[in-house]
Amino acid sequence: MKAIVLFGSPGSGKGTQAKLLTQCLKVPHISTGDMLRERVRGAELGNAVAETMQSGALVSDELVNAMVEERLARPDTADGFILDGYPRTLAQADRLIRWLDERGVREVVVHLAVDYNVIIARLMGRRQCPRCGTLYNLASQPPHKAGFCDLDGARLVIREDDSEPVIRERLDSYERQTRPVWEHLRAVGRRVIELDASAGTPEVVFQEICQAIEVVQPAPPEK
Ligand code: ADP
Repeated sequence: MKAIVLFGSPGSGKGTQAKLLTQCLKVPHISTGDMLRERVRGAELGNAVAETMQSGALVSDELVNAMVEERLARPDTADGFILDGYPRTLAQADRLIRWLDERGVREVVVHLAVDYNVIIARLMGRRQCPRCGTLYNLASQPPHKAGFCDLDGARLVIREDDSEPVIRERLDSYERQTRPVWEHLRAVGRRVIELDASAGTPEVVFQEICQAIEVVQPAPPEK
């Protein structure tokens, strides 16, 4: 069972690493941000949730906890999962810990620690493919053809919550509500790993995560 919880501030690279891990480990990537955006688009969730997300604040624990539990109950999580963006509050952390312990699942929490100024620069340059979700960064990881996804050619977009005031609010929510979760997980003795993810390329950070969680990487295909 490969249960990995990716922890870190907005812009720390959780989404990028989750995509690499999900390909390598063949377990689903569960991103609460993506799930919420999808449900808002599909009008399953009302305007209040959309407004909360657009402001950069966190949506309610009840909603997110229920959504994650429903997702974890699906059969494709039998061999494990990668949680990205959850838990973000102490109430979510307690709920997840209970869920894991009841099932005897031993997770590993990986904290991608990134310098505040690096985070700001990254979030401001972020672009996303609306079709496949691939993330790019104008500064560090631009697409081959400016403005278009390398994988499917779709025109890249700026996420609504990547404007500067919203970025500040997201980082504030992180400091107030989410950082204490990290202290809590350590204090109650969960398996935690902290990596410096400020400088390395996504590939380097990925190798470090793999080493840290002792996942043997498949050999690259022969040329
Ligand atoms: P980022 O980590 O870059 O801020 P996400 O895509 O993970 O972006 O989340 C986008 C938004 O979705 C958050 O700002 C918040 O409003 C909402 N959200 C995502 N995950 C959670 C969560 N676990 N609890 C509450 N709100 C969440």
